[in-house]
Amino acid sequence: MSKPIEMTDEIRALRARMKDFIDDVVFPAEPELEREAEHDNHPETGLPLELYAAAKTRGDDTRRGMRGPGTDVAARRAGGRMAELKAEAKRRGLWALGHPKSIGGGGLPFMDFVYLNEIIGRSEYGQVAVGSVSMQDSIMLDLYASPEQRERFLQPLVAGDVYPSVGLTEPEVAGSDPTLMQTTARLDGDEWVIDGHKWFTSGASRAADTPGYLIQRAVPTMGHVGGQHCEVVYDHVRVPRSNLLGKRGEGFRISQKRLGPGRIFHCMRWLGQAQRAFELMCDRALTRHAHGSLLAEKGAIHTMIAESAAEIQAARLMTLDAARVMDTGSEARVEISLIKFHGAKMLHNVIDRAIQVHGALGVTSDRPLDRMYREARYGRLYDGPDEVHHMVVARNLLKGYKDRAPWS
Ligand SMILES: Cc1cc2nc3c(=O)[nH]c(=O)nc-3n(C[C@H](O)[C@H](O)[C@H](O)COP(=O)(O)OP(=O)(O)OC[C@H]3O[C@@H](n4cnc5c(N)ncnc54)[C@H](O)[C@@H]3O)c2cc1C
Repeated sequence: MSKPIEMTDEIRALRARMKDFIDDVVFPAEPELEREAEHDNHPETGLPLELYAAAKTRGDDTRRGMRGPGTDVAARRAGGRMAELKAEAKRRGLWALGHPKSIGGGGLPFMDFVYLNEIIGRSEYGQVAVGSVSMQDSIMLDLYASPEQRERFLQPLVAGDVYPSVGLTEPEVAGSDPTLMQTTARLDGDEWVIDGHKWFTSGASRAADTPGYLIQRAVPTMGHVGGQHCEVVYDHVRVPRSNLLGKRGEGFRISQKRLGPGRIFHCMRWLGQAQRAFELMCDRALTRHAHGSLLAEKGAIHTMIAESAAEIQAARLMTLDAARVMDTGSEARVEISLIKFHGAKMLHNVIDRAIQVHGALGVTSDRPLDRMYREARYGRLYDGPDEVHHMVVARNLLKGYKDRAPWS
């Protein structure tokens, strides 16, 4: 029998404090953070100019691609703004609350963090500002890292001194089918030697300075390079044998341990984004006058508000249910695939309607909706396109459609 979904008084109070920080401190900083992410990049490759400076100092040939600068370019190039937000989050006791206590986090139970993530997600910069951007990586490392790996990678990750990036997708083969991956790793003495070609490795321009890891460009997406979704060539990259996470041959299973909670966190963040778009839509409808009445008095606008409310409520309950099932130790494969495609579509629809109610203002950068819409569109692709999640749901349910559905 399933337990009802509950939120404790403590988590309600924490959500209120988090909302003050996100709405009052992070929201006003967003235009500056967006400008900084898009500027000071190389005009042809979209990569941070700091990468070129570091390559020049080393005397590298930048035409083949560039090694990481070896420091946190993103934090430095935020011109101190993101660093200020991180410091403020720490001052307010809001830093890394979901990471395990044993590695410097706040130790919030999974379900409490799920509720908190809904508030963090109101701003797309929220998760970096409060140190939760690496939650899914930290959960995976906490399960599988050796003591040496914990010290070397996990602690700086939780402290916000380094950022994770994940290189799975390759331009030559379908990223939605990991069995097609062409990158190879062969053991040579005490080192793995990696050769391959990746793209959409988000945040790769913050990578460590590793010979053979050649960052070629930040692939522009919908006219922007701020996400730093990079194309990277691995040319005989040598990695110490001891860096292998878990046992040889277990990589796919371990990566699933990262993706499951990650999808719940995405969906809760999306609910925060949808709630923000919903608020913007209602504010605008209550203040804009046309054809003899406020927009808020027109039937067509009522439909948009009501449809959005229904979709948000449904996605929220489905996401909390999936989180609850995962919290029992289950992989929750059907539940997670359901919320991944349903949540992404909900987000897209709600932001689209909010833009419509704003008229032309909705697609300007005077409002956050244009940025939010772009991110929402990506949500239907990353961590598995809609159709792959349809496939997972349908295949599982076809094996036992009378008793395997989440509502059975
Ligand atoms: C903003 C953004 C950030 C990303 N960040 C990362 C990252 O950090 N690291 C990383 O490795 N990757 C990242 N990705 C890549 C993402 O994971 C892939 O785009 C995704 O896995 C799909 O792979 P693909 O693009 O090669 O599309 P393909 O696999 O070529 O699929 C193309 C289309 O085919 C259809 N399709 C595929 N399979 C089926 C099926 N079984 N049934 C029906 N239709 C199907 C779908 O419509 C799909 O969209 C990111 C993508 C985006 C947009």
